[in-house]
Amino acid sequence: MDFKAAKARLIEHLGAEIKDKQVLDVMSRIPREYFVPPQSRYLAYEDMPLPIGFEQTISQPFIIALMTGALQLQGDERVLEIGTGSGYQTAILAELARLVITVERLPALAEAAKKALDGLGYRNIEIHLSEETLGWPSGVLYDAIMVTAGAPEVPPDLIAQLALGGRLVIPVGSRYLQELYQITRREKKNIVKDLGSCRFVPLIGRGAWEE
Ligand code: SAH
Repeated sequence: MDFKAAKARLIEHLGAEIKDKQVLDVMSRIPREYFVPPQSRYLAYEDMPLPIGFEQTISQPFIIALMTGALQLQGDERVLEIGTGSGYQTAILAELARLVITVERLPALAEAAKKALDGLGYRNIEIHLSEETLGWPSGVLYDAIMVTAGAPEVPPDLIAQLALGGRLVIPVGSRYLQELYQITRREKKNIVKDLGSCRFVPLIGRGAWEE
């Protein structure tokens, strides 16, 4: 399998709509095939989500590029990711920010992601198993938060973990179809931008969906 050629084709395809060069550059460096199960590796550079077990998926590259760009990272941020899954999105964030704190509710996925990310040599990623409160409240507010599972509404617990001026990117809608929101936290009224429709697995927990 010629991953190099397949990857180059994918990046070119994404470039038709994604104008953020930095995001495309990072995606062209990270091996997505490391993060997908062996039986679907041959599809690693198709622009589609792929199953990673436990009814979860590694997101579609186009959506990943769109969501990453919407965080507007400059390089010195502390970023929170909810839904580590395969760890692929985590790696992208780790290339673009200072520190990534990522939270996953399924221990087996968290362990597999840790292995993949350690194997690639990342040193600026903390992986945690989710607790009662959505996210990872730590006393310090996050500059950016990405949620890679769909929520029924914007969880107030996550807004509370976002710094003023920080961006939250989150799919919000029904269990099966959502709108992707980019929310910028403001002192009074947050700015909400709709980036289009998407389909994510459900965000499970207090303030989101039941299992
Ligand atoms: N970014 C991942 C997407 C994985 S799918 C990737 O591209 O591989 C979404 C993940 O969110 C699943 O692994 C699921 O177990 C996890 N998840 C769902 N609800 C969660 C919660 N409340 N806290 C943390 N992780 C959650």
